[in-house]
Amino acid sequence: MDLNLTPNEQQFRDELRAWLQANVPPPWTGSTAAEEKGEYFDFLRNWQKKVCEAGWAGISWPKEYGGRGAAIIEQAILQEEWARAEAPALINALGLYLIGPTIVAAGTEEQKKRFLPKILSAEEIWCQGFSEPNSGSDVASLGTKGVLDGDHFVVNGQKIWTSMAHVADWCLLLVRTDSNAPKHKGITALLVDMHSPGVTVRPLRQITGDASFNEVFFDNVRVPLSNVLGEVNKGWQTAITTLMNERANLGAGTYIAFRRNLDALIARAREMKRNGHTTSQDPLVRQKLAQAFLELEIFRLNNTRSLSKLSKTGIPGAEGSILKIFWSEYNQRFQQAAMEILGPYAQLHGFDNGRWVFDYLRTRANTIEAGTSEILRNIVAERVLGLPKSY
Ligand SMILES: Cc1cc2nc3c(=O)[nH]c(=O)nc-3n(C[C@H](O)[C@H](O)[C@H](O)COP(=O)(O)OP(=O)(O)OC[C@H]3O[C@@H](n4cnc5c(N)ncnc54)[C@H](O)[C@@H]3O)c2cc1C
Repeated sequence: MDLNLTPNEQQFRDELRAWLQANVPPPWTGSTAAEEKGEYFDFLRNWQKKVCEAGWAGISWPKEYGGRGAAIIEQAILQEEWARAEAPALINALGLYLIGPTIVAAGTEEQKKRFLPKILSAEEIWCQGFSEPNSGSDVASLGTKGVLDGDHFVVNGQKIWTSMAHVADWCLLLVRTDSNAPKHKGITALLVDMHSPGVTVRPLRQITGDASFNEVFFDNVRVPLSNVLGEVNKGWQTAITTLMNERANLGAGTYIAFRRNLDALIARAREMKRNGHTTSQDPLVRQKLAQAFLELEIFRLNNTRSLSKLSKTGIPGAEGSILKIFWSEYNQRFQQAAMEILGPYAQLHGFDNGRWVFDYLRTRANTIEAGTSEILRNIVAERVLGLPKSY
């Protein structure tokens, strides 16, 4: 495993670092409520537009569709530099990382030309309509129906937990188009205009207070056949492409963000007083901080190993599942430790901008989103240990 950057990779990093230094906006101090298209939405959308114009959005996409055809190491460098510079996230993340790559892989030339540029520039925001009230982990059991009517599918049903649907212009939607076929074989992937008549979006409030995901209802929504992504009744293959992209989180940026959180907690522990001495002198606090540090080192090294393997083989292995289980469960342990170390201060919205309580509550979703820990363990059990399939 060679951890050194090649001269080309160094040049890429230096160019990006310089651009970020010159362009990252001052931290947003207004409301970050995710509910509506307010000022924060505009701030994030303008930021992505700028990133796109400078050629830093969707760098892994092929050049002919606006990307740079960047290698895996360059993508990891980008994530790392982004986190290091504390640059704002890109608002059209679902479009950039999940749906755009699926359109590149499965779309017609016309679909690629129509949709990809507006994903990069955030002119059109996307959401992913897979989960339903009765189909989450087993998404292939979904029941939302698409019935052929001339040159349209007519869609009826409900999706749930659809992130960004409240601000989305388009949705990559999975529907059942053949109820008689085995469950994986009668599904079709559709590109659905969220402004179509019959689409109703109802925000759901999360434990953090934010409402960033939604219930979405489809009532006789007409979708032209030209918006089928991939082939009719072969949507499961299309969905797998999206899910592979969702789980192939390289983790390089996640490590930097987690390390920054740990450093912030250590800084607080050094200055806060408890029982007549600084909190960092408390033997239990020291145990917790040291434990977090060593878990993060394990994450960093595994991440590097996975990156090195991926850049040689080009095929994502079970490492993605292992890393996702590790970082999501680490983050829950770390945020729990932070609440214990900071005590009641951690619950105050005026203390460190309320970040501790928000992050603590938000981590509950980490082991559910993008595949639950149980499902990812099933993948490891099956593909790494060769155990029988889960029923
Ligand atoms: C913050 C957040 C954002 C999300 N955004 C989106 C989005 O944009 N689009 C979208 O389509 N979905 C989204 N989801 C939904 C997410 O994909 C599902 O919540 C997830 O797949 C789990 O499905 P479920 O909630 O129906 O739980 P279920 O599948 O009902 O699972 C319930 C419990 O049973 C366990 N379980 C289920 N099957 C097995 C098994 N075979 N073996 C062992 N244990 C099992 C699970 O691990 C879990 O603990 C989001 C979820 C969250 C939390």
